[in-house]
Amino acid sequence: MRTSFNSRSLVLVGGGHAHVHVLKSFGMRAEPGVKVTLVTRDVETPYSGMLPGLIAGHYEHDECHIDLWRLAIATGARLIHAEAIGLDLERRVLELRGRPALPYDVLSLDIGSTPRMQAPGADRHAVPVKPIDHFLQSWQQLVAQVERTAEVPRIVVVGGGAGGVEATLAIHARLRAALGQGARAIPLSLVTRGALLEHFNTRARSILTAELLKRRIAVFDNAEVERVEAGILWCRDGRSIAFDEVFWVTGAGAAQWLGKTSLALDSDGFIAVAPSLRSCNQERVFAAGDVASALAHPREKAGVYAVRQGPPLADNLRRMLRGEPLQPFVPQKRALALIGTGDREAVAVWGPLALKGRWLWTLKESIDRRWMRRYQHLSPMPDRPEGEAAETMRCGGCGAKVSSAVLARVLQRLRSEGADLIDLDDAAILPSPAGETLLQTVDHFRAFVDDPFRFGRIAANHALGDIYAMGGRPATALAIAGVPPGAPDIVEDQLYQMLAGALAVFARSGVRLVGGHSAEAAEISLGFAITGSVRESQILRKRGLAPGDRLVLTKPIGTGAILAGLGQGRARASWIEEALATMEVSSARAAHCLLDHGAHACTDVTGFGLLGHLLEMLNASKMSAVLEVASIPELPGARELITSGIVSTLHAENARCRDAIVTKAGHPGTELLFDPQTAGGLLAGIPAARAQSCIAALRQSGYPHASVIGSVKDAVTGRVEVELL
Ligand SMILES: Cc1cc2nc3c(=O)[nH]c(=O)nc-3n(C[C@H](O)[C@H](O)[C@H](O)COP(=O)(O)OP(=O)(O)OC[C@H]3O[C@@H](n4cnc5c(N)ncnc54)[C@H](O)[C@@H]3O)c2cc1C
Repeated sequence: MRTSFNSRSLVLVGGGHAHVHVLKSFGMRAEPGVKVTLVTRDVETPYSGMLPGLIAGHYEHDECHIDLWRLAIATGARLIHAEAIGLDLERRVLELRGRPALPYDVLSLDIGSTPRMQAPGADRHAVPVKPIDHFLQSWQQLVAQVERTAEVPRIVVVGGGAGGVEATLAIHARLRAALGQGARAIPLSLVTRGALLEHFNTRARSILTAELLKRRIAVFDNAEVERVEAGILWCRDGRSIAFDEVFWVTGAGAAQWLGKTSLALDSDGFIAVAPSLRSCNQERVFAAGDVASALAHPREKAGVYAVRQGPPLADNLRRMLRGEPLQPFVPQKRALALIGTGDREAVAVWGPLALKGRWLWTLKESIDRRWMRRYQHLSPMPDRPEGEAAETMRCGGCGAKVSSAVLARVLQRLRSEGADLIDLDDAAILPSPAGETLLQTVDHFRAFVDDPFRFGRIAANHALGDIYAMGGRPATALAIAGVPPGAPDIVEDQLYQMLAGALAVFARSGVRLVGGHSAEAAEISLGFAITGSVRESQILRKRGLAPGDRLVLTKPIGTGAILAGLGQGRARASWIEEALATMEVSSARAAHCLLDHGAHACTDVTGFGLLGHLLEMLNASKMSAVLEVASIPELPGARELITSGIVSTLHAENARCRDAIVTKAGHPGTELLFDPQTAGGLLAGIPAARAQSCIAALRQSGYPHASVIGSVKDAVTGRVEVELL
């Protein structure tokens, strides 16, 4: 078996402007033996140049965001959706919120900045412009409220630099459009500590000040905010401004956690880097964009500089990985600033010059759109070369086991973190529960998402589903794991991350991992044999449905199509995230609710799709059913993907049970019924009188999409049928 062999790990932290270039560069031309991982807090990253246009309503969300899932899939990088919160430079690991740390050989940070909010009360009463998605949420709510009520709240923007002025003009434009022509003045103020646009030339200042005044926007300059209280903002000189909403667009501040590392920082807390973009004191760490401070070439914090750093950063990361000398990068001395005025005009500022015009907006738009197209319209990347040890013929059979040293280290790490693992023997010794019947089940599949921790969580959830569907309590698990060959520390980390993900699920479910088998494989795979038990009187089977029972489904369907879309780079980041989040929800509480509400029969919806699993229940119970297709909860994007022909490989096979459908006219939702599910929900027959209270209980227990999707009826024709309404 020939496999790629990853021996080094390049971890990119943050999907900022420079890193999107690095991803694409490594996608176009891979470094042999290097695994590229992107760790990002947000899976859609905004392009700064188009933000004011988004606020003003000139652009839709998708036009100015880069879908990092698609970019990662297209470039062959692993995406880990997580927030970095620390860096252990000695152990060479990146610490992540809520999941195990990630080892690296070379690390690069492009995590941007957030406005500095030093004034007391600002953190409670003001909305910072970054992180952008939080700001956009508040902004969109405000716009919706204005559209609904035609009342404009008093808005204050704090920050009189280019970002603050541009945001203020954009806010004005959007609210003017929401209110329509002839509306009264918009109560909008701009507050700034020093002079407005103090780093710009006189002509630019006078053009933009005139634009603000023309719109009757109140400008408070030389007004440093001293504190913010509910509804009122106090300046140091005693002035106060009443507000309903404050947006904070002040100068860039660095992430606090950088200060807890031993990375060399500048006086503002940004990472000090050499001209090569490498940290001044850590040879394996690089930084670019707002978070970096090039001591030899200081520049303002602006997206344009982050964009320009992309190519030299990619080049120097390659050089570092190859052990070649790094190249210095000298950024341009000044950049053309194009500041939108909200009305599809822009002011161009270049050194001492400034000019306003509609054509400048057209120019800005075409520059911005051209840049976005590079990361939105991804043509297939050239074939990536195999790893440097690709030619090695790996052994099969027991020779393909993960080495005992690697396995021992993984188990030791898991134990030291509190995992409840028994001492391993040749086989697990299990006590049999008194008065209960044993349940056993096994599931195994290859990874569909290149994030071993998340995959481990989903694989564990999926395996436990069978026990929950039978009304049982899982007790122990045996793991079978496949890990691609690679350097021992990379293999160790992948195995560790997978098992750590699974153990996080098992710990919450009261399940002990009692053994397993791990082997080298062409790709990551994981499965579990689960043993559980159930009191005889509580066993839920596929059979037992009664006429009149309501069919209750606990989770939305569509994971098969979304995973197919993910594999083909056709699913949106937001669809992928919702599907993965659904798969990470345990069915333990759902099973309790269904039992409490007198379920007659139950199954978990997995590979055969909703219709396949329903038919199993109906055949076992000798019943027919009516499905109300509009009531079946679906994952966003699943229907769209299926309609455009993106389906799971199992879909066609599942669709063979189409014959059981008796509805004459084609139904728009039919294809989704054949979609195979991973870690899908439970499907149960609940007595009609208790169905609504069952749904209410399920929704309260963390299954917001739980729904009655149909009912059971006698199979009057003698044949099991499903009628679609
Ligand atoms: C209203 C406004 C308008 C602007 N307009 C312009 C303009 O027209 N032109 C211009 O050049 N500049 C503009 N700027 C400045 C510009 O936004 C920034 O300079 C630019 O975004 C910096 O890019 P970056 O690559 O450093 O980081 P960003 O683009 O901010 O990207 C950072 C990435 O890192 C991720 N991240 C953050 N923290 C973590 C973490 N702890 N762990 C994992 N991931 C993390 C984020 O999710 C994000 O994907 C504007 C700023 C504002 C506020």
